[in-house]
Amino acid sequence: MNYKIVRLNTAAKTEIEHAVLIIYTGGTLGMAYDPQGALVPFNFGQILEKIPNLNNLNISITVISFPEPIDSSNINLQHWVDMAYIIYENYDTYDGFVVLHGTDTMAYSASMLSYMLKGLNKPVIFTGAQLPISEMRSDARENLVTSLEIAITKANGKPVVPEVCIFFNHMLLRGNRAKKVQSVHFDAFESENYPALAESGIIIDFNYASIRPYEEGKHLRYYNQLDNHVMVLKLFPGITKSVIESCIKIKKLKGIILETYGSGNSPSEDWFLKLMEKAVKMGVLVLNVSQCNGGRVIQGRYQTSKDLKRIGVLSGGDITTEAAVTKMMFLLANEPDENELKRKLITPLAGEMSVLNH
Ligand code: ASP
Repeated sequence: MNYKIVRLNTAAKTEIEHAVLIIYTGGTLGMAYDPQGALVPFNFGQILEKIPNLNNLNISITVISFPEPIDSSNINLQHWVDMAYIIYENYDTYDGFVVLHGTDTMAYSASMLSYMLKGLNKPVIFTGAQLPISEMRSDARENLVTSLEIAITKANGKPVVPEVCIFFNHMLLRGNRAKKVQSVHFDAFESENYPALAESGIIIDFNYASIRPYEEGKHLRYYNQLDNHVMVLKLFPGITKSVIESCIKIKKLKGIILETYGSGNSPSEDWFLKLMEKAVKMGVLVLNVSQCNGGRVIQGRYQTSKDLKRIGVLSGGDITTEAAVTKMMFLLANEPDENELKRKLITPLAGEMSVLNH
């Protein structure tokens, strides 16, 4: 890919102490209105003009921009491979990484990168904005500047947050636990099932107990294979047999994220269970994920989920749909052993679920 690279030295007079790589993918943060009044992405040079106080940070910043910045609704597998590769290639040169990304699919990208970057020991902070940086009331400046600060924060010379996160509206969340829950207000993300990793106010208040600790001697490994033969099947009262039948007939389908009710419940009608069982027997992985933002799947708590367990549906515990879809895509491409694949699906890979499920 033909990336654009910009180097900036934001240090005023003093010697530069930190280096951050920004990957600019697009999103509202860097959008402007076109003549028809629709928001379209613009280039990074124009973004920097809007944050003159960046010069007060003592950071050397390099920006790698996607050739064509995109609305994150257009994110695809190749973009994830590109982001992971850029981080992998530049890993030793920088203290941390900030990924500027649209909010719509940020939770998917942050989840996927948490799996693709195995052995990560440095901060990778995703951020963006609800209002373009050119707008007076934009949240972009605060989100970007604090993300840069978090990316360089160290204690005893070691990064404080060596994991993939989302920073948004004063909150630092584990990336694979976050969900976009708001499309209008500034508090766009939530992490119902895992505590925030930090909150920014006058100071940045880190929640050390919840942050994955830095581990001496870890080496970064990057995976570049993904398999998107998966689907999300969201249940709703009245769903018809023909809908489920069509789903399991999808060519090459390898995995279904079954979005169930409450603590993992589904209709107990015979036709439904028989079709799900047929899918499992055909070798399709079915992972039970709750439609609720908080809480978890407990297969067997109600009769309406006991049968799912019996027919071989796997429990996603407290994983989000975003983290589940990306995990399935990642494991399908990288775990050839079927039993191992199933085991890994229900076990935390990168802190995306709690251990207490099934
Ligand atoms: N549609 C935009 C995107 O995800 C929304 C945003 O950035 O907030 O790219």
